Amino acid sequence: MNIILLGPPGAGKGTQARFLCDERDMIQLSTGDMLREAKDSGTEMGKIVADVMARGELVTDEIVIGLIREKLKGDKQGGFIFDGFPRTLAQADALGDLLAEEGETLDAVIEMRVDDEALVARITARSTCAGCGEVYNDHTKPIPADGKCSNCGGTEFKRRADDNEDSLKQRLMEYYKKTSPLIGYYYAKGQLSSVDGLGEMSAVKADIAKVLG
Ligand code: AMP
Repeated sequence: MNIILLGPPGAGKGTQARFLCDERDMIQLSTGDMLREAKDSGTEMGKIVADVMARGELVTDEIVIGLIREKLKGDKQGGFIFDGFPRTLAQADALGDLLAEEGETLDAVIEMRVDDEALVARITARSTCAGCGEVYNDHTKPIPADGKCSNCGGTEFKRRADDNEDSLKQRLMEYYKKTSPLIGYYYAKGQLSSVDGLGEMSAVKADIAKVLG
C-alpha cells in the first residue's frame, strides 16, 4: 500500500508516518528529512537548498522528484508513506508517473486538517530526538524529566532551524499557494480522505487506521 500524508507544516504527518512504519512495516519517504540530511552532510545539493529551506520556500520540483525517484527503486517493504511530498501539482503528476513506472499504485491520500493557530503553537514548541527522530512538544509531550528519549534513551535533542515564526509564515504561505490545490486534485481523482489532525495522537492514528482498513 502506498499513501500520501497531506497537510501543512506541523499537522503531525511525521508522527503518524512513524506509527505506520512501526505497525505496517511501511517506509517513510520524507523529502524534508532527505533535504536536511543533504544539507547536514554538506553535499552540493545540500548547499543549494540550505538557504531556500531556511527561508521557508520550496526547493525545485526537479530536486525533490529526483530524490523520490531514487527511493522508489529501492526496497518497498509494506509500501511507501509520502510525507511532505508531493507539494506542487507538478510533483503530484510526477509521482503518478513514477509509481506507474514501478508497477505501483497510489492507494490513499490522507489530508490531515488543522487550524493555523494550532500549527504555530505546535511548531514553535517542537523538538526531536537526535538519535531516533521521536517528536516532543514543550507543552503536550515534554522531553522526559531524566533527559532521556522515551523511545531510544538518547540524550541529544534538536530543534529545526526553520521552526521559527518568520520561516513558518512563509512555509504556510507556500502551503496555501502551492500545496493546498492538491486537495482538490486528489479529491477529483477519488483518492482523498480527510482526518481531524488536531485530536490526540492516538485518536488521529485510529482515524487513519480506519481509512486504511
Ligand atoms: P518539511 O520537513 O516537510 O517541513 O520540509 C522542510 C523544508 O524542505 C520545506 O520548507 C521546503 O523548503 C523543503 N521541502 C521539503 N519537501 C519538499 C517538497 N516536496 N518540495 C519542495 N520543497 C520541499
